[in-house]
Amino acid sequence: FAQLEAVDPEIAQVVLGELERVRSGLQLIASENLTSPAVLAALGSTLTNKYAEGYPARRYYGGCAEVDKAEELGIERAKELFGAEHANLQPHSGASANLAAYAALLQPGDTVLAMDLPHGGHLTHGSKVNFSGKWFATVGYTVDRETELIDYDEVRELAVAHQPKMIICGATAYPRLIDFARFRQIADEVGAYLLVDAAHFIGLVAGKAIPSPVPYADVVTFTTHKVLRGPRGGMILCRAGLAQRVDKAVFPFVQGGPLMHAVAAKAVALREAALPEFQTYAAQVVKNAQALAAGLESEGMRPVSGGTDTHLALIDLRDLDVTGRDAEARCDAAGITLNKNAIPYDPQKPMVASGVRVGTPSVTTQGMREGEMRQIASLIARAVRADDDPDETSQIRAEVADLVHKFPAYPR
Ligand code: PLP
Repeated sequence: FAQLEAVDPEIAQVVLGELERVRSGLQLIASENLTSPAVLAALGSTLTNKYAEGYPARRYYGGCAEVDKAEELGIERAKELFGAEHANLQPHSGASANLAAYAALLQPGDTVLAMDLPHGGHLTHGSKVNFSGKWFATVGYTVDRETELIDYDEVRELAVAHQPKMIICGATAYPRLIDFARFRQIADEVGAYLLVDAAHFIGLVAGKAIPSPVPYADVVTFTTHKVLRGPRGGMILCRAGLAQRVDKAVFPFVQGGPLMHAVAAKAVALREAALPEFQTYAAQVVKNAQALAAGLESEGMRPVSGGTDTHLALIDLRDLDVTGRDAEARCDAAGITLNKNAIPYDPQKPMVASGVRVGTPSVTTQGMREGEMRQIASLIARAVRADDDPDETSQIRAEVADLVHKFPAYPR
């Protein structure tokens, strides 16, 4: 770091400023986590220099002996951890992994059935502003208006009516378990591939806190930087029979040279996720999310679907008469980072939204437990109600600082 400061003090200041921001506030973005020093060391290594187009032992460049070892270790660890027949560690991101999965299984114009974005689906599941919605005929399923759970009967009816070539499940803002067996049944009934986008919850699967989609899906895509606590990036698991198609879709169809420093860091994260401590961590992430959702509910903030089975809760703020946008801004001012989020059947525009999404991967990495979650729920409730009261906001900020001081992120 001293060298960065000497060469580029401006960027060094940004790095320090971001570290200070993380250390001094509460990080409740459901899709973020705090990577280990070992993962950061692999990311900041000279492996970033190496071109390695292709796959281990089948590269288009010389000098790949060392990076081959990293990628082979990562592939073996992924297969072992998830019980998968094949793994590809090269996708640069979750969106790239999904693009590759579409490319492996479909032709442009094919029909895809996936969860609607306003109900928790991701942009790459058929949004009109994304490749998925522009190049494919997408049909969206929703959650039930009453239960706010996936309506599997509707999924089946839509599948029968539209005969999709691929069905996607897995979402960005769905707090409940997904019935992968039911999705498999529906996919089989109409002869569709089943893609599970496990970006949000694959870390909980690795830690054995929730059931795995691997036995049911043809292809599983995910990001490596959420609960899984690896570097920013993507990964794909699939059946052996689809391995060649998936590999060719990632390279050379979607990407060029892999980011070998990121591939190595993914291997490190997979090793960490296979440790018994990670199972304790994953179970605590869920307990914390449940405690946080219950705490927010007791403060008059309604958890969508009544609670959570995972690492995140979606909170409906309409009873408080505060929008998601205002709540996000007020929490931000108090040192609490979370994001506004549409709730199912949201009357507000997405940039305003009626809800917020909260997640517990980062605070659990810091060692917080249910007691701290109740405290955080009360801090959020006060921040959301603080409106334009600067004294109350500074008081909350000070209490947030006290709390995070006891559970330091990246201890000095
Ligand atoms: N899929 C899901 C379900 C996600 O939640 C996300 C990101 O949040 C992605 C894909 C895309 O990942 P990335 O931002 O790495 O492209």
